[in-house]
Amino acid sequence: MNQNLQSILELQSALTRLHEADQRLHGIPDWMRELHEEHAARKTEIEKLEETAAEAARQRRTAEAAVQDAQEKLKKYQQQINKVSTQREYGALLQEIDTVKGQISSSEEAAFSALDLHEKAEKELAALRESFREIEERYAAEMTRWEAEKPEIARQVEELKAQVAEIKSRLPRGIVAQFERILDRYPAGAMAPVRPIERPGQRQREWHCSACNYRVRPQVVVEIRNGDSLVQCDSCKRILFFREEEEG
Ligand SMILES: [Zn+2]
Repeated sequence: MNQNLQSILELQSALTRLHEADQRLHGIPDWMRELHEEHAARKTEIEKLEETAAEAARQRRTAEAAVQDAQEKLKKYQQQINKVSTQREYGALLQEIDTVKGQISSSEEAAFSALDLHEKAEKELAALRESFREIEERYAAEMTRWEAEKPEIARQVEELKAQVAEIKSRLPRGIVAQFERILDRYPAGAMAPVRPIERPGQRQREWHCSACNYRVRPQVVVEIRNGDSLVQCDSCKRILFFREEEEG
């Protein structure tokens, strides 16, 4: 196999491993995912309930302030009652008193139901926090384990970065640039192995690009084997190569 192609294959493999190690370093590891999601869901549940409790407390304060206001008014009207001189004024005042009494009782009701809501939310919160404690402890333990694994992964990342730089340094710049352009288009991998198309009874083997299935011309097969430039698939433009077991 040509030397540049060999190095490009090594480069692709190092980049793939680097990407995986980076993901592991910055993401949530698979073995923690389930607990992580449960932890996050419980936390959201608790936060929502805290919001409900706080909202109920706000409503209660508003209703209690309204009760107080209405009581002040009632007191004022009751003091005025001795000072009215006409039947009409008296009637009007009684009506005001009736209205304000209505306001007091509806605000008291609102305060009471807000209080009820608040208490229920607090009780539920206490239960949730209690059951959350066990998850939180397990989560903290797994986080500690995860943190302990990170330095080793970080070391692998550094090693792979050095490896990538080393491989690039022994390749012609044009070839690296060509590879990187294709990698931009196919972040999962710029390389595609060539595979034989099995057709019983056929004497000459035919080949295709295993990424897109496009046929690889016999002349191109020769070029991949013997040339020293990178050969791209006519259709998807990935860089073609032979796996060793199919080299023959
Ligand atoms: Zn292709």
